[in-house]
Amino acid sequence: MLVLMNVDASDEQTQAVCNRVEELGYRPHPLPGATRCAIGITGNHGAVEADSLSQLAGVAEVIAVSKPYKLVSRDMKSEDTVVRFEGSDATVGGAELALMAGPCSVESRAQLFRVAEAVAKTGARFLRGGAFKPRTSPYAFQGMGEQGLEILAAAREAFGLRVVTEAIDHESLALIDQYADMIQIGARNMQNFALLKLAGRASKPVLLKRGIAATLDELLMAAEYVMSEGNYNVVLCERGIRTFADHSRNTLDVSVIPAVKKLTHLPIIIDPSHAAGKRDKVAPLGRAGVAVGADGLIVEVHCDPDRALSDGAQSLYPDQFAVMTQGLRKIAEVVGRTLPEPRNVPAVVAVAK
Ligand code: PEP
Ligand code: MN
Repeated sequence: MLVLMNVDASDEQTQAVCNRVEELGYRPHPLPGATRCAIGITGNHGAVEADSLSQLAGVAEVIAVSKPYKLVSRDMKSEDTVVRFEGSDATVGGAELALMAGPCSVESRAQLFRVAEAVAKTGARFLRGGAFKPRTSPYAFQGMGEQGLEILAAAREAFGLRVVTEAIDHESLALIDQYADMIQIGARNMQNFALLKLAGRASKPVLLKRGIAATLDELLMAAEYVMSEGNYNVVLCERGIRTFADHSRNTLDVSVIPAVKKLTHLPIIIDPSHAAGKRDKVAPLGRAGVAVGADGLIVEVHCDPDRALSDGAQSLYPDQFAVMTQGLRKIAEVVGRTLPEPRNVPAVVAVAK
């Protein structure tokens, strides 16, 4: 159920509707839009008593939502969500495409600072890098843990980047909520419902990656889990799904982008790196993603990929990332978007640890 407020409804009227929803034993989710506020109602198992809400002051309409996902739906909010970050003008979902880049894993302070400087110069506004790594093999590098988060936070200060990094469980999520700017939920955890609920109670925006065999409905329901707990800043990510094709690590499902755009107001970015698996295919897939309407990209970049502790084969050298970004600018223009401009960043000498 969804309550649409009048265009000129006051904050007090919106609050009164939320109070009534709570009295009925449900949870209100007020989502302000460009022209008016919509209040999603969750926690009901059947029809909500629409009559007791439709008569309240400021209410334009009470609408039954037939889809299983409610808060993520375009019915709830017709205009696109723009996710913002405290202390920065970087956004995801606005006219400027979000450019996120960095190594698969944080390996040392020197490694991260070198690559952070390079991607910041190219224009990236977000620095990626895993400190907690979900690896296929228990013997593979599992990440630096909290020390990795400290290095990420130091790089954020040095280069003015927003930090996005993956949470794999309760403990890492709580730490990432403190240290980072965006909480990544990886493909393997897309249906870890306990983790999704925790992310929904966190203070930072969530980057939700599509599971390797998840349908669009399953992805949207995972986002609904996060939003149902009160965190409305969710960004979806298409990172390739598993198919019979064996010429790439995964198959980038470009057709999911327009499908997502139709059903939800949430932004969606693409990860061409995990789809490609090999660096020579990253730029072409990135171009496809921008052309089809993605709101940004997350790309793995490493200064010495042959020695990377994870995903070296798909990591771009910094100069390849710069060339790719130049190419993306032309495509962005065709679809009415922009990319952040290259910028001067302070030369920071990383102290090797
Ligand atoms: C990653 O971003 O390094 C990662 C592990 O991604 P995914 O969850 O998409 O495999
Ligand atoms: Mn990776």
